[in-house]
Amino acid sequence: MPLRSKLPDVGTTIFTVMSQLAQAHGAINLSQGFPDFAVDPALLAGANEAMAAGHNQYAAMPGLPALRQAIAAKLLACQGLVVDPNREITITAGATQALYTAIATVLHASDEAIVFDPCYDSYVPAITAQGARAVRVPLRQPDFAVDWEAVAAAITPRTRLIIVNNPNNPATSVLTVDDLNALSRLAERHDLMILADEVYEHLVFDDRPHHSVLAHPALRARSFAVYSFGKTFHATGWKVGYCVAPPALTEELRKLHQFLVFSVNTPMQHALAAHLANAQHWQALPGFYQAKRDRLASHLIAAGFALLPCHGSYFQLADYSAIRPDLNDLAFAHWLTVTHGVATIPLSPFYAEPPQRRLVRFCFAKTDETLAQAGARLAALAQR
Ligand code: PMP
Ligand code: GLN
Repeated sequence: MPLRSKLPDVGTTIFTVMSQLAQAHGAINLSQGFPDFAVDPALLAGANEAMAAGHNQYAAMPGLPALRQAIAAKLLACQGLVVDPNREITITAGATQALYTAIATVLHASDEAIVFDPCYDSYVPAITAQGARAVRVPLRQPDFAVDWEAVAAAITPRTRLIIVNNPNNPATSVLTVDDLNALSRLAERHDLMILADEVYEHLVFDDRPHHSVLAHPALRARSFAVYSFGKTFHATGWKVGYCVAPPALTEELRKLHQFLVFSVNTPMQHALAAHLANAQHWQALPGFYQAKRDRLASHLIAAGFALLPCHGSYFQLADYSAIRPDLNDLAFAHWLTVTHGVATIPLSPFYAEPPQRRLVRFCFAKTDETLAQAGARLAALAQR
């Protein structure tokens, strides 16, 4: 019997494609977003201790109470927010599962969800798999700001959800208070839900604040906000994240969560709960990553790239027009990996309709040695 695909247009993600190409050619992998440095030994010790202490059976369905309490304490300390750990926080298998579950919770067949173009790759397939429709609103060129009039024009009687990613991967832009107010006005007027992917909440640079939907009372009442310990604690392979949402939304989210994963890996939750209690572990992140951003930037500029401003995330967008104007971004990323031994991510796969720009994305979540090695290889571009 032929299987009718739910995602006929989906292939292998560009992250997997480029990481495999990097491996096959021994390239320095600045493509897929993951750190190449070690996880804090205290966090590793915590995970080992939790396993040795016998914390190896199912955690509570919404997540280990101690971890949910630690998250609530952090939200209070960090943003002055009062969040109920029992009714408003759910621990998930990475941000990816939180995003998918929130999307599946809100959308019914034939509903519409607004996403931005470019957008992170997991949103549209999750929308499509519900039998719903993703409506893409282009971010403004060249600064990737949101055009709220275009968002308003895209809303129809079927619209249920707007998905925002702040800081944005791949655009590296961040939302302002004015953006959140504009979002809130539209959401209130049309009674829409918001899904806010804030996995890079601590990776905001140049003393800009992170404006979370959770800190905006009107948005908080209608938002699912999603986070990832993979980003915050340099452990993308642990796949632990969480979703914060008001009790009524959380209750519905957990109905799906309990049948998607039921609960998330127990010893890691013990370790993360203890680690989160030390504020230094996340307070140091903006400075730590800003220094890496600037280090990579100097190498890229020396190699002949023109850089776009990077306000947040651990990615740097670079225009390669001065290097190989003859290549489109897929061909350029392939050429750079194979010929110069540095892998990047082309931008067009994040778009339904890519603009005519020559942009690739570099990940700077790497040791200073890795960045220096990449810089040495890229220096050859300037000699061409
Ligand atoms: N959202 C964005 C914007 C991301 O960049 C990523 C991963 N890089 C995720 C979600 C997924 O997070 P996780 O690995 O915790 O599933
Ligand atoms: N989010 C990571 C990135 O943007 C990749 C995650 C994945 O490979 N699915 O590079």
